[in-house]
Amino acid sequence: MRIQRVLANNPGPYTGPGTNTWLLEDDGEVAVIDPGPVDPAHRDRILERVGGRISIGVLVTHTHPDHAPMANPLAAELGVPAFGYAPGPEFDPDLVLAERSGLTVGGSRIDVVHTPGHAEDHLCFRIADVLFTGDHIMGGSSVVVEDMGSYMASLEKLRGTGLTMLHPGHGEDIEDPDRVIDWYLAHRRQRHEEILEAIRSGAASTDDIVEVVYRDVDRALHPLAARSVRAHLRLLSEEGRIASAGPDLFALPTESI
Ligand SMILES: [Zn+2]
Repeated sequence: MRIQRVLANNPGPYTGPGTNTWLLEDDGEVAVIDPGPVDPAHRDRILERVGGRISIGVLVTHTHPDHAPMANPLAAELGVPAFGYAPGPEFDPDLVLAERSGLTVGGSRIDVVHTPGHAEDHLCFRIADVLFTGDHIMGGSSVVVEDMGSYMASLEKLRGTGLTMLHPGHGEDIEDPDRVIDWYLAHRRQRHEEILEAIRSGAASTDDIVEVVYRDVDRALHPLAARSVRAHLRLLSEEGRIASAGPDLFALPTESI
């Protein structure tokens, strides 16, 4: 198995250095993961790397705009299916993948792992002890979370499963997966408690919480932080630790005020 990264030209505060497109090659066959936004120059670099190999398909980790929109056009150009968990904005899978679906590239098997949390439709792709993580785990930063309970469960699901390498959708490779997964879990638990503490100290809106809890984070990222805060608030509500978690208004349960 040979793994190549082709970096898309979409750097920014939300994407780091840009989206990592991954090519998996084995025994004359190739699969493409996350071709990114529609960009003819990036498409040409991918096609050049595919070369004369037999492509088995274009795989999508999730349907965010920095990962999926070029999947259908690239798959059409290669004459292969686009694979993903579900349709989304600018993406419609030709073949749907689910937990425990399997694909083969040459002599290697790709196992599909459903990892909801960052996005409900998020998949990771595993080959032996190597995992392609999309935005579930990134190189060098935490990720924005839509559903905190699912996200924590999707981290726990990967922990202690013998992984030795993570290839993320953004940033550099991760060579110590369990240590990084433990950091992610600890980081989310810490944010969870910090958010509850901010509410106890008088924060009454999502913006109030972001100002307190994310005071050391670049303000350009505060709108993204607010999405993770809302996910924490929903989980705090489900846990009965706050009384309500509308998108922006909440209160402590009466007995804990
Ligand atoms: Zn994403």
